[in-house]
Formats: sequence, structure tokens, C-alpha cells
Amino acid sequence: MQEPTATAPQNVLQVHFDSTVDGQYVLDPETDVFIKVNQAFCDLLGYTAEQLVEARAPISTMSVVHPDDREDVLKRRNAASGLGEHGTLRFRVVKPDSTVRYLEITYSVISFMGRRLHMGSARDVSEQVKLENKLRNESEFNRELSLAAQRSAKEAERQKIEALMANTRVGALAEVLRAVPVLTKRLLEIEKIDDIFKETTVTLYNEAGCSHCYVLMKNNEGDLQIKYSSPYRATDKLTPDSNGMYQTVLRAIQNLAIDESGTHVAPIRVAGEIRGLLEVGMPKNLQRFYTTQPQIQQSLRDLVVTIADFLGLVISDHENLQRITLQSRQDKLTGLANRRVFEEQITTEFRRAVRYERDLALLMLDIDHFKKVNDTYGHQQGDRVLAAIGGLLKHSFRDLDTVCRYGGEEMCAILPETVGEAARAKAEYVRRKVEELVIPIMDKPDETMKVTASIGVACLTRNTSSEEQLLREADRALYECKTGGRNRVILAKA
Ligand code: GH3
Ligand code: MG
Ligand code: MG
Repeated sequence: MQEPTATAPQNVLQVHFDSTVDGQYVLDPETDVFIKVNQAFCDLLGYTAEQLVEARAPISTMSVVHPDDREDVLKRRNAASGLGEHGTLRFRVVKPDSTVRYLEITYSVISFMGRRLHMGSARDVSEQVKLENKLRNESEFNRELSLAAQRSAKEAERQKIEALMANTRVGALAEVLRAVPVLTKRLLEIEKIDDIFKETTVTLYNEAGCSHCYVLMKNNEGDLQIKYSSPYRATDKLTPDSNGMYQTVLRAIQNLAIDESGTHVAPIRVAGEIRGLLEVGMPKNLQRFYTTQPQIQQSLRDLVVTIADFLGLVISDHENLQRITLQSRQDKLTGLANRRVFEEQITTEFRRAVRYERDLALLMLDIDHFKKVNDTYGHQQGDRVLAAIGGLLKHSFRDLDTVCRYGGEEMCAILPETVGEAARAKAEYVRRKVEELVIPIMDKPDETMKVTASIGVACLTRNTSSEEQLLREADRALYECKTGGRNRVILAKA
């Protein structure tokens, strides 16, 4: 029996090469052909050993590599030139039936008969790659999922912030709007017109949080004056309106002027006439929302215009009321207080004088022969005389005195804190003034006329029991003037 040991290593290697389940090959990188392959390797590639090695024109090693992987494989192959170098490489091969498989090869560089050859083993890792891809895809998917989750969390956060901002905006605007009914209610309860201006500016500044608020009204000369300002600003000094907002609104070119700082200027119209301006600085709460929020801009514009319009209505109401009140207390012809005021005032002054033991005098004036004036010059001229004497009396007494037309051509003056000789002297002064009065005659420019008056004077004494008694005494003194020759003053006896 032949000793197998002598050839055993050779045979064993051959047997191992031929029968191992891993594909085995030897290739010549220079010619790009396989020098030796085993059956397992042939199976991996789908070619026979004949086609790969023995044919006259064997299939090049590169032609079985997937076109997309060739460059990579070549690069690795060319780089592995040193003897004993080894490495692992994964790439795709295309089988004759066009199926694509992943191979992983482990190679090393060997020397055989002076040539550098690559020897390697190969195995199909397609299933492994598939699994790896699947895992990678899954982890990619999970990563995507987690990114999406992060994004939606961020979006939720953004929406939350947006909602909070919206709440803040609404809150800030609500604060401003809440001030409006408060203001309108207060304005309707106010009696003095200057308090209307004050209440408006103070409420808009303190309660609506406006940065400033002015009410500017035209004076008799048509010049704007600050009626009230919050915060306080010297009312006599009006800084020139640099950007012409006041004029734009006063001339009704615009119904609302707004500058870049958010200052609003709206007209205050009284009975259709622009009589002043309402200037409102941006509410502090709304400043950061104003430029980016059209609704807030609009709300604020509406608010300023509405308040300015309302101010105009309130002012108009007040003026009407003042006029009506005055009319109901004033005699139109003489411009003096009327009999109603006289009766109220004599009662008040009488009570006050009695309670505090103060002096009080009553003057009763009657024009002499007034009937004759009417008869001679006509009723209209008579009216003129009444108006002239009314004007004279109006300026002949102190502020605390009350001068009234009592009726017809009779006029009364109530003089608190006056008694006896002082009252008589005052009456005498007035009588003389009437006597000196030169009255032009209607339609006769060159002619004038004169009248005289009689004045009865009564003063409060311990014996005066009522205002009626005082009135009777003054009347009696007046009667004495008439019977005594007129154009004189008589002080009723105490
Ligand atoms: P005596 O000196 O006695 O007071 O004489 P008298 O003419 O002034 O007195 P009398 O009371 O007789 O006449 C008052 C006149 O005044 C009668 C009335 O026509 C006139 N009179 C009263 N009110 C007005 C008025 O509003 N306008 C005009 N023009 N006349 C009036
Ligand atoms: Mg009379
Ligand atoms: Mg008379």
C-alpha cells in the first residue's frame, strides 16, 4: 500500500478545496481570470468551472461583479498588492439567470511561481444583507418616527405658545375695551364740561393703559388748546404738531391720523362741526402686538374714533343743556335773570341772612313814564330802552348780587351783606347812571333820548318777618318815589 502520507498534504488540501462548503478560488488579478475554483464557488456564481477556468476565453472575474460595485472591487483589488495582505470585501454578483446575490470574500495575496495571485473564500451573504437592510430600515423608520414625534411635540409647543400669545393679546385688548363702558357711564354723569375732558384723559390713561391722552379744543380765536392731559402736561404750551396730524384731522382730510409710534388723533365733532381733537397714545399692553396684528390695529382705531364721537355727543348735550338752563333763567330782552331766579334767590338770601344775622338789601327800580316812551317812539324803541337799562344794571352790581327783571319795566337787585346808607348810595349811583344814559333812537341816527328811573330800597331788620314783607316795603318806597316826583331814591323806614 502506497504510503499516503507522502502525498497526503497535497491531497488533503485538494480534497478540502474541492469539498468545503465555502466557495474557494484563486485569481490572477493581472489577467482578471480565475485560475482555480471549487464547486461551491461555481454554485455561488452560477457558472461552471469550465466557463470560469478551462474555456479558451474564460469569463473575466470582473464581468460577474454587479456593474455598480465594479469600481469599488477593482480599487480594493489594486490596493491589495503586498504579499500576505488580506481583507474582507462585500459586493454583488450577477448570475447568468440575472439574479443578484451578495458575496462576502476573504482574500489574501499569495505568491505562486513568481506571480502575485489572490486566493480567497466566498460565501453568499444575501440573506444576511437582507436582514441587515431590514433592520437598518426599521431603525431608520424608528428614527423617522421619533423625529416626527419630536416635530409634533415642537408644533404642539408652538401652538401652545401661539394660544398663550393670542390670550395675552385678547386680554390686553379686553382691558382697553373694558375702559370704554366705564368711561361712557362716567361721562354721562358729569355736570361740568371741564370734568368731561378730565375724566376722558384720566380714564384712557389709567384704565385703558394708553401711553398718553390729550383733549384739545379750539378757543374763541379758533386756536387749539390742551383742555386736559394725562399724564400732566402744561396746558398753555402746545408743542407744534410736527407731522401735521392735527391739521389733517381739523381740516377733515382724514377722520383719524396715526403716526409711526401709534399715536391716534381723531376729531371731536359737536353738532357736525370739528371743535377739537382727541389724541391717544398706544396702550402699553398692545404695543408689541400692534404692528403685526391687523385686528388689534382696527380695534384701537375704532375705539379712538368711537370715544371722540361720544365726546362730541356729550359736549353737544352739555351745551344744549346749558343753553336751555340759561334760557329758562334769563330774560332775553334785558339779559338779566328772570323773575323765577328772583323768587328763588330772594328766598335763599332771606333765609341765609336771618339764620346768620347778616345784612340784606332789596332795590326795586321802575322806569318813569315808560308808557310815554312806548307811545312816543313805539314799542320797539321801548324794548331798546329796556335792553339799555338791563345792560347798565348788569354791570353796576357785584358778582354776589342778583339783578333781575321783575316784570314789565321793573327791575330788582338783591344785595347781600348791604344795609342802610350803603344800599341807598348804591341805588342813588344807579339812578344817576340811568339819568345819564343816552339812548339812540331807532331809524333816526341823529336823535337820542333819555329816561329816568325811581328806586325803592328796603333793608332787612329785626322786624322783617318774610321776604314778601321786604318786597312790600321796597314797593312802598318805590311808590313814594313816584308820588314824590319820580327820578329819585327812597329808603324804606326801618
Ligand atoms: P310810572 O312813571 O308811574 O311808572 O309810569 P309808567 O308809564 O312807567 O307806568 P305804567 O305801569 O303805567 O306803564 C308801564 C308800561 O310799560 C306799560 C307797558 O306797555 C310797558 N311795558 C311793559 N313791558 C314792556 C316791554 O317788554 N316792552 C315795552 N316796549 N313796553 C313794556
Ligand atoms: Mg311799572
Ligand atoms: Mg314805570
